[in-house]
Amino acid sequence: MAKKAATVTIEPEDTTPVTEEGQIINDVGDLPGVGPATAEKLKEAGYTDMMSIAVASPSDLAEAADLGDAVAVKIISAARKMANVGGFETGDVIADRRSKVGKITTGSKALDELLGGGVETQSITEFYGEFGSGKTQFMHQLAVNVQMPPEDGGLGGEVIVIDTENTFRPERIVQMADAIGLDPKEALSKIHVARAFNSHHQMLLAEKATELAKSKNIKLMIVDSLTAHFRAEYVGRGTLADRQGKLNRFMHDILRFGDLNNAAIAVTNQVHAKPDAFFGDPTRPVGGHIVGHTATFRLYLRKSKGNKRIVRLIDSPHLPEGEAVVSVSEEGIRD
Ligand code: ADP
Ligand code: MG
Repeated sequence: MAKKAATVTIEPEDTTPVTEEGQIINDVGDLPGVGPATAEKLKEAGYTDMMSIAVASPSDLAEAADLGDAVAVKIISAARKMANVGGFETGDVIADRRSKVGKITTGSKALDELLGGGVETQSITEFYGEFGSGKTQFMHQLAVNVQMPPEDGGLGGEVIVIDTENTFRPERIVQMADAIGLDPKEALSKIHVARAFNSHHQMLLAEKATELAKSKNIKLMIVDSLTAHFRAEYVGRGTLADRQGKLNRFMHDILRFGDLNNAAIAVTNQVHAKPDAFFGDPTRPVGGHIVGHTATFRLYLRKSKGNKRIVRLIDSPHLPEGEAVVSVSEEGIRD
């Protein structure tokens, strides 16, 4: 407690030691109101650094560490001061963080180019399109590709799959792993799959993922599908705000997972079959602004002739829009 005044006040010329990310080095256990038992619970729940607590919601934190809301608010407010949330960073600091971003090949050179190298870590990449457009194929392909060494377009990492539609197929992994010379058995052993039975369960699994990532080198989290449960459970206009609130929380939970673990997040989404007077396209992704604003990359998949699929990059912060044509075969996704 005696430390409180000293650590909470941050002067502009403060010389408190900071990490490369600009975060002040300080243990979670140093926060006012956090004893050893609470510190342990927080860390177990994935709140391992100041920033993760600073950006948490009081109710989440209270739940994670069995605290009262008032205590949670106090802890968050202290963490905010320590983590210097909302402060400005110079471009070179951001460039340094960006330099740690890893990229996973999609299997298609054309699509990798469109994405500036592949599916990025620290971001959410959304694959949306109608039934059969190949979303789940892409998820399987990424689950295999991420295991390759960096020189081959992977990140040498393991995978978490949150499967809401029961469409994960080990057989498909075996085919795709064989095709790129990975041992299929080993490939399967690095993919950690959980079926989500409803949206609540889906949200719980995002928390479980944080636990698993402590013992495994998880470099990719897949959520297939992101919206199906939410869409099925929240029907009718009156439920929209509630649904969007939950979806928003889930999106931020998985984005945080990506940041904390420098992992990529790949999600699938369905489309509304609704004519759009402005864009002329009869299909729009589910989830509205919430999904649209939180996903960094949005890829729209359309069926073309035979096994061809057209992938369109939409709304990227730093890449031009464009399209790539890919094929889906027994080996997986290719140009
Ligand atoms: P979505 O998830 O968008 O509904 P999928 O990813 O399940 O769609 O895509 C299904 C399509 O993928 C099938 O219609 C087929 O064209 C292709 N596909 C699935 N498995 C194989 C395979 N083993 N060999 C070739 N193509 C396949
Ligand atoms: Mg699917």
